[in-house]
Amino acid sequence: MHYVRPFDPWKSKLCTCPGKFSFNPYTGCSHNCLYCYATYIPNFTKLRLKRDLFRKLERDLEKLPKNALISMSNSSDPYPPVEKKLGITRKCLEIMRNYDLRLLIVTKGNIVVRDVDVFPERTAVSVTVTSLKTAKLIEPKAPKPEKRIEALKTLKDCGIPVILRLDPIIPFLTENEALKVLEMCDFVDHVVTSTLKLRRDILARFSKVFPELTRIYRAIYTEKRGSYLYMPKDMRIKILKSLIERCEEVGLSYAFCREGLEFKAESCDGSHLC
Ligand code: SF4
Repeated sequence: MHYVRPFDPWKSKLCTCPGKFSFNPYTGCSHNCLYCYATYIPNFTKLRLKRDLFRKLERDLEKLPKNALISMSNSSDPYPPVEKKLGITRKCLEIMRNYDLRLLIVTKGNIVVRDVDVFPERTAVSVTVTSLKTAKLIEPKAPKPEKRIEALKTLKDCGIPVILRLDPIIPFLTENEALKVLEMCDFVDHVVTSTLKLRRDILARFSKVFPELTRIYRAIYTEKRGSYLYMPKDMRIKILKSLIERCEEVGLSYAFCREGLEFKAESCDGSHLC
């Protein structure tokens, strides 16, 4: 396989994702999110094109089992601003729609609405919205949260199953905005949420923009799980509590990403919708 590969949850024992394949039309990402978990990839912020992408994608798709689930993208965004001009993801979709597969698109880019006409038959779209006013500081080059919410609405109106990825919730920074985001998106079909996990490079990026958080994070991120630091479970539950309550109140399906907390939804990532 060249570019479509079995999803690798970085050996996390807390990952509850169903078996799936991962495909990134681009290498690297230009959104520059402070909390990005994929920055272990060298030169990550420099967006690059893949060699011979379309031919190799076709070859990979030929080898997939029928009805395979592909998640696009886990380690980049399939809709960076340059996609508007290049149409690389669009061309990949045109290829994918000729195969018997299920597709979960994961993005922060509102350009996704452009491509509804070429989505494979069984496609669901997950859009990340972490905050409202803090977004410009933590996701400096991604589209405004309002535009992403608008994209979710447009897709929903087109009959596409939509997922709100309210993830990660950043302690002492976006906690108070999360509920508002959820309220603005209560038309979605599923919600995925989780609290921020820290790695040394992630803490360094936060410390540059929010120096006052460094000392606090050093004090509360005390539990090592694989390569990440977690807050204690009771702290994480406290942060997620109001969202859980709201989802239950309005009957919204919800799940967590790598929290080690139980949920009742059919899948954590929303892939049951595609
Ligand atoms: S959009 Fe995703 S992959 Fe891109 S920088 Fe942000 S968190 Fe990383």
